[in-house]
Amino acid sequence: MPKAFASQADLAEKAISFERLSEHAYAYTTEGDPNTGIVVGDDAVMVIDTQATPVMAQEVIRRVASVTTKPIAYVVLTHYHAVRVLGASAYKPQQVISSQDTHDLIVERGEADMKSEIERFPRLFRAAESIPGLTWPTLTFRGEMRLHLGSLEIRLLQLGRGHTKGDTVVWLPQEKTLFSGDLVEFGATPYCGDAYFTDWPATLDALTSLEPENVVPGRGAALRGGDAAQAGIAGTRSFVRDLFAAVQEGVAAGKILRDVYAAAYERLAPTYGKWVIFEHCMPFNVSRAYDEAAGYRDPRVWTAQRDRELWQSLEGSIAGAS
Ligand SMILES: [Zn+2]
Repeated sequence: MPKAFASQADLAEKAISFERLSEHAYAYTTEGDPNTGIVVGDDAVMVIDTQATPVMAQEVIRRVASVTTKPIAYVVLTHYHAVRVLGASAYKPQQVISSQDTHDLIVERGEADMKSEIERFPRLFRAAESIPGLTWPTLTFRGEMRLHLGSLEIRLLQLGRGHTKGDTVVWLPQEKTLFSGDLVEFGATPYCGDAYFTDWPATLDALTSLEPENVVPGRGAALRGGDAAQAGIAGTRSFVRDLFAAVQEGVAAGKILRDVYAAAYERLAPTYGKWVIFEHCMPFNVSRAYDEAAGYRDPRVWTAQRDRELWQSLEGSIAGAS
């Protein structure tokens, strides 16, 4: 039996948790599916990452309505990936905020990414027909933006490249609560198909320096308490470093992608193979790591066709993985 493409065999629904992390911060988490963060300010609400479709976003809106009647005025996109941003229209926000780099990625590769991700994750795009098109930021920033929702200060920080070129985290300094987007995962495999492996660990070091007391990762349960927060960041850093080290070795030895993939899979599976979407991520992760190790500074655009070709070229290179 060939291994099913990407996450096409992953059809089991996940349970949703909605929990209060600090005075103004809530986490909407989904057992390893993409998370959403919520900040309730004095007069308005901010949603951080939207879910994949407007229909799926309605579930977030229902949870928000259970704790406040304030309007959802702001949507923040931590990065450009379709599974995070295409539900935005459901919130009818006043502003959709992202880094300028994220805006640039939507211009450059948003269309291709939407088609690629919908094929990779059919379950995560429930009611994909409700997506009105790409989500366009209405406000962009470089480096840092501060919002003041009454007495609550919210910092949007672009601390470096990692999961993508445009990664933004949302930081509540008064409550030491961090919404990391996919820069940090917990119990879930970091997706590295658009990553900057050389930069990612230093960006994580910058998150460590914030000394968060709560972290909402991109996937996985909310991390409560400083120790859990640091452990989540450290686990992501280890995965990124271990993967890139394995691939760099293979590239330095002149090996072809298929052989590098088999070796990296074997090296990482004992430690990380239980993390959700490991099988899904590894072909894309190793492909990007191979490019970066070979000197390609920027990730290539993924298209639905390129996804399939890669999958087929690596299929069968793992003994017993079918
Ligand atoms: Zn992502």
